Amino acid sequence: TFGPAQARDFLQRYADKISAHAQELTDLDAAIGDADHGSNMQRGMQAVVAALPAEGNPSALLKSAAMALISKVGGASGPLYGTALLRAASSQTDKAEWTSEDLRAALEAAYAGLIERGKAQVGDKTMLDAWRPALDALQKGTPEAAATAARAGSDATKAMLAKKGRASYLGERSVGHLDPGSVSSALLFEALAEALA
Ligand code: ADP
Ligand code: MG
Ligand code: MG
Repeated sequence: TFGPAQARDFLQRYADKISAHAQELTDLDAAIGDADHGSNMQRGMQAVVAALPAEGNPSALLKSAAMALISKVGGASGPLYGTALLRAASSQTDKAEWTSEDLRAALEAAYAGLIERGKAQVGDKTMLDAWRPALDALQKGTPEAAATAARAGSDATKAMLAKKGRASYLGERSVGHLDPGSVSSALLFEALAEALA
């Protein structure tokens, strides 16, 4: 189950992974964007950890994280991840512990929020290309299977032509590079799997 301890552990692990991979994320964004994805996410996740309330159910913790991301990350990724976490939080407001089905429903709500906010589709070379395969894997498998699928989905963005976000300005020149947001999303699913292990 996903209770307050797991929610906290997930956010802390995600912050740690973002810090460990900040340079890599920024280098990926340098190739097809504006070289700030690692610094954006690092600033955002540091704010998330600093703002975490001492008490609260998973929904309250994720809501706090969403607000920190929305207020601290200027780029596209802040409002997108913020919306995702906010939708996940609001889909399970009053529960002390989430079942695996609650978690799956929350992540589907998060995904719907990403689509509504960013108007992208699977195959557009965005974070959705990590999220969708992860959620499909979670329907039948474990959070670990979801993390593996997210990583494979991110790897597959290398061959894609960007249709949304800054990378889309490059057209054909976006092909041959990983989408940075898909890589930070793979890290998110890895942090979640570790928190639930
Ligand atoms: P910015 O592009 O504003 O500098 P970041 O570099 O922090 O923001 O984030 C870029 C990432 O955001 C991209 O790699 C992509 O995964 C994601 N992204 C951008 N636009 C969209 C969108 N419309 N829908 C989904 N994801 C998007
Ligand atoms: Mg950027
Ligand atoms: Mg930017």
